[in-house]
Amino acid sequence: MKIVIATSEAVPYAKTGGLADVTGSLMKEYISLGKDAYLFLPLYRIIKDRFSLNDTGLNIKVNLVGRLINSRILSIGKRVFLIECDDFFDRNELYGTPFGDFHDNAERFIFFSRAILEALMKMGLRPDIIHCNDWQTAMIPLYLKTVYNNDFFKKTSTVMTIHNMGYQGIFEMEKFGLTGLGWEWFNMEGIEFYGRINLLKAGLISADIITTVSNHYATEILTPEYGHGLDGVLRKRAKDLKGILNGIDIEEWNPETDRLISGNFNSNDISKKQKCKEALVRECNLTSIIKKAPVICFIGRLSKQKSVDLLFEAAGKIVNLGAGLIIFGRGDAELEAMVSNLKDIHKGRIFVRLGYDEAFAHRVYAGSDIFIMPSRYEPCGLGQMIAMRYGTIPVARKTGGIADTIEDYNPLSDSGTGFLFEGLNINDMLCSIRVAVTLFSCKDRWYGLIKRAMEKDFSWKRSALRYIDLYESLSKKKSF
Ligand code: ADP
Repeated sequence: MKIVIATSEAVPYAKTGGLADVTGSLMKEYISLGKDAYLFLPLYRIIKDRFSLNDTGLNIKVNLVGRLINSRILSIGKRVFLIECDDFFDRNELYGTPFGDFHDNAERFIFFSRAILEALMKMGLRPDIIHCNDWQTAMIPLYLKTVYNNDFFKKTSTVMTIHNMGYQGIFEMEKFGLTGLGWEWFNMEGIEFYGRINLLKAGLISADIITTVSNHYATEILTPEYGHGLDGVLRKRAKDLKGILNGIDIEEWNPETDRLISGNFNSNDISKKQKCKEALVRECNLTSIIKKAPVICFIGRLSKQKSVDLLFEAAGKIVNLGAGLIIFGRGDAELEAMVSNLKDIHKGRIFVRLGYDEAFAHRVYAGSDIFIMPSRYEPCGLGQMIAMRYGTIPVARKTGGIADTIEDYNPLSDSGTGFLFEGLNINDMLCSIRVAVTLFSCKDRWYGLIKRAMEKDFSWKRSALRYIDLYESLSKKKSF
């Protein structure tokens, strides 16, 4: 069975968020399971700068409304293929700057989706499965039913994974022509969306199977509250919608062997976690926090989805509990500016770092005591799983994958792996933080919490096997 993963980002090549972790880890898992899998990515500047590339000698031409774009297919090793188009991808960022998306994202990813299909034909690589991810590659399933409905792809099935309903690839109607589809697709049953076009919708109406990254989120997105306007489309396909929980790369995120942190530890001996904490407190200049108070951290995109606005409002009250607070991430310019101010207002108690830095993320996960994740919605969320693996206890809003991965602490049975709250408001969040901070001083109970959290199995293997089962059942259907 030949599997193609079509994605706009994948670790270790290019990453802006969890999507890259998922596609990169799945690929790694498939290879270790001996599967015949291939990864297709755009050739971004960051990949050119950091990897040595081979020219496959193959060129393709992609027709983008009369504009014939020539593109080379490059590779890294035998299984990772890069679509070159410098006009579109030789830029510093993947999708846009903090001030907004690139104006030509429709062109860039419609091109990319078609280029993958052209490349497969040129390479003679007939996939049994094309696994598409988010709006950037969501045109592929629809293309296979229209423009590329040909003999070459007759055995190909498609899986469309939704990593985040909040990003749908919505563009002005004028961009419809770029798709090369007939106008019969510009209506409610097609990819029209309130007078505009919606690329994710292409995948939702035409993929053989739709998956999303947790069971909880799979039910949430059928409701108007979480469906972002596509819940009706999804309800029609509810029987083809499955939740498969993401995992994390347990080799990259392993406190026992991690070379990026000050001391290694495991669930039976967490003594070196204290060393990581001391180093982090020094690095972040948290000089005014109470000795023995917990360090609370936020790591993630600074976006409304992650409730950074709530965190900003509650920050003063959090540090009044004696705790230190680290806010680390990058994202919307407005939120970046807002949280940036906090470190001057609460000098020595709040540390804010804007930017993207994997090594620093490791140090923060390892050295903190509590991980705060008040997300408005969270398809799966990787941060809470990574934090638990490093014995950093999550305080998180019970939504999406958070509900599937964190077991709420129960003081009566002294069980659970974190603290959950439901209301999307400061009071509920602060209430949970207070409980966590109080429990932090009950050393036996806190250690029990750490041990249980660290021993949870969040490895990819289980999820990868579920995807493989799905692929196999699809390809069996096609061969009948
Ligand atoms: P998202 O909605 O952004 O995909 P997830 O929780 O699913 O959120 O995944 C976020 C991933 O990105 C995690 O691996 C997290 O550690 C990482 N990450 C987020 N922000 C940063 C940053 N500023 N620097 C390094 N890694 C980051």
